[in-house]
Amino acid sequence: MIEWNEGLNLGIKDLDDDHKQLLNIINELLDAINKDMAANIIAEKFTQLQSYTQSHYRREEEYLRKCGCIKLKEYKAKQHIFNNKIVNLKKKLASLQNYEIFQEISLFLTEWLVSHIIEDNISAINALGECDLNQKKEEADTSFFARLSKKTTDKFSFTKRIFFSVLIPFMGMLLFGSIVIFANFNKYLDMKKIYTITSVIPYTNDLIHNLQIERGLSSGSLSSREGKFKDALQKERKIVDKKLIAFINKINTSSTFSAIPIEPYIKIFSKNRVLLANVRKKIDNRTVSKKKAISIYTNIIKDMLEITPKLASLKITKELSSSIITLSALQNFKESLGLERAYGTIILENKNASAEEYIAFMQLLSRRDTFLYMFNNTATKAQKTTVNSIMSSIKIKKINKDEKDIRNYHFGNLDSKNWFKLTTEFINRVKLFEDKCTSDINTYVETQIDDTVINFIIWIIFNTFILFITLFILYTFRSSTKLQIEQLTKAMKNLARGGRSLRLSPIKLHRDEMAYIYDAYEITRQNLLKGDIYTQMYLNQKEIELKNKQKENLQLEEMAFIDPLTGAVNRRKGEELFALELERATRYKRDLSFLMLDIDHFKQVNDTYGHAVGDEVLKHFSSICLKMARHLDVVARIGGEEFAVMLPETNSEGAYEFAERFREKICNSSVIIDNTTTIKYSVSIGISSLDITYDKDVKTILERADKALYQAKKSGRNTTNIYIT
Ligand code: GH3
Ligand code: MG
Ligand code: MG
Repeated sequence: MIEWNEGLNLGIKDLDDDHKQLLNIINELLDAINKDMAANIIAEKFTQLQSYTQSHYRREEEYLRKCGCIKLKEYKAKQHIFNNKIVNLKKKLASLQNYEIFQEISLFLTEWLVSHIIEDNISAINALGECDLNQKKEEADTSFFARLSKKTTDKFSFTKRIFFSVLIPFMGMLLFGSIVIFANFNKYLDMKKIYTITSVIPYTNDLIHNLQIERGLSSGSLSSREGKFKDALQKERKIVDKKLIAFINKINTSSTFSAIPIEPYIKIFSKNRVLLANVRKKIDNRTVSKKKAISIYTNIIKDMLEITPKLASLKITKELSSSIITLSALQNFKESLGLERAYGTIILENKNASAEEYIAFMQLLSRRDTFLYMFNNTATKAQKTTVNSIMSSIKIKKINKDEKDIRNYHFGNLDSKNWFKLTTEFINRVKLFEDKCTSDINTYVETQIDDTVINFIIWIIFNTFILFITLFILYTFRSSTKLQIEQLTKAMKNLARGGRSLRLSPIKLHRDEMAYIYDAYEITRQNLLKGDIYTQMYLNQKEIELKNKQKENLQLEEMAFIDPLTGAVNRRKGEELFALELERATRYKRDLSFLMLDIDHFKQVNDTYGHAVGDEVLKHFSSICLKMARHLDVVARIGGEEFAVMLPETNSEGAYEFAERFREKICNSSVIIDNTTTIKYSVSIGISSLDITYDKDVKTILERADKALYQAKKSGRNTTNIYIT
């Protein structure tokens, strides 16, 4: 009786029910055969099995076809083989009913059902992955993450998932690092561009400063009739020219890599250079008005003063931007002072001021204060302190006094040259501070550039480090996981092929998911190993049982042809053995003799002592005969007290010898019953040997022996007689 194993369930209810029903029919059939039921019942069960299998095949084919998991040709071929086998078994059982047939039927049907379910159905459905017909499908988890993880599982292999789970975070870090590097690089470029301009500022300052001096001297020279400022002017012009060349050189080298387009400035300055040359000539020839000359200088200076504030509008830090605005305010403050110096010089030289000159001078004073106010708005505390100390110096106090005198038209004790000298000294002090501010800006920009370079290097190192870590982890993680999976796959495959010896080296350090899989493998291996051994034991036992049974059968068979009273073979078996030996002797032309033996007056023994004593005599007779006969001789009980002995490889003389020895032995021995009765008896023997040319069967030879025996009886018994033709 084979029981249904839940492991055989496909999860498709109709097919599972079918398979269970098939198992029931098989069990009933085996039971019927086992219990030796009537042939018609067994036949009926066979028919039932055949017809149910047919209808099951049809149903199953339809299902498997729907889900596309069927190899129709193979499937049909298997059906055909099964049907043929059933017909054969049925026939076999009808003709021969034994234990082996039963075993064969039982084994075949069980194997067929199991392999049909496991190989045809389960493997097909598993290979296809998911069968829509699978009614027992687990309830799908509809949460977003569950769906996402299912999709990921479908799309990416196990090792790929590991690969990505390491790669993606590190790639994120790499990306972040790269963005920082890129931003740093951009900042570096920006700062470099800004630096090209900020590095121009000192040249601008120098040029402006000297242009301012030239303007002052020019205005003084134009005002003075004695040529007071002439020498100083000539000297200053040379300085301006030098500064101008230095400035243009600087600006030309910066033109390709700059934060603001330099070309328009180059254009303006080449135009201004011409203007400057012209105005100088006109000053020398005194063909230009003081006002016009000052305005030309002032315009040139104004163009230059525009450079610095332009920087403040660029993409720079707030700190730098405010430093630049401060510097610009300071430059303008200084320009106001320069103009003040120029106009003051004119007024004092003439000891008079036109209304225009007076207004201009007054405006300059307020303009100077405006720029000072602007400066104070953006300047740092230190810068303010410096400017305050400059503004509170004794010189500025003297200048303030002069300004007051000019305002009040008190020119009497004022000298233009002194004014020029005093204001120039003051302007120089401001210039010094301006230079300091400019150099501060440049230092700041340089530091910023250095910082970006350092940041750049740090992040490059960081990225390289991350890259190496990523590659290292990827390599080690991936290869170690792959190794374990490969090891496990190899072991499982080996297990599936029947190998039981592959033991996986245990994962010692920590118990992780892989360790549990390894454990599961090991338990499976052990169970299968146990199963194998138990199966082997079972088979061994079965073999022993079978052997015993065969032995028993053999014994039964032997008993069937051996006479239970005397131990001699019975007549039928005797004749069979005689015939076989006759055939052999005829073919190989060998000698063969037969003895016919009959106990003399046996009836009397029976009559005198009883049938039981007669039996004892028979036993005594046959035991001596069997003892004296050789291994190949056959002793057969032909009738009641009549025996036939076949002597292979023996001619009539040899047979006679044997017969005489036996007869004498019987004659000389006696049967003792209950220690009281002694029975003596004798035997008569007839001999006949094979005549190859004449004898075709045993019967004729035995008839001859019988005749010889009859003669022996006739001649007085207890004698041996050879048949003579
Ligand atoms: P003869 O010398 O002419 O052979 O005389 P006989 O008495 O031996 O001859 P017969 O054939 O007339 O007698 C045989 C007797 O053997 C008859 C029968 O009752 C007896 N007999 C046959 N089979 C058995 C047996 O199995 N056991 C016993 N006790 N007697 C048997
Ligand atoms: Mg007899
Ligand atoms: Mg007889």
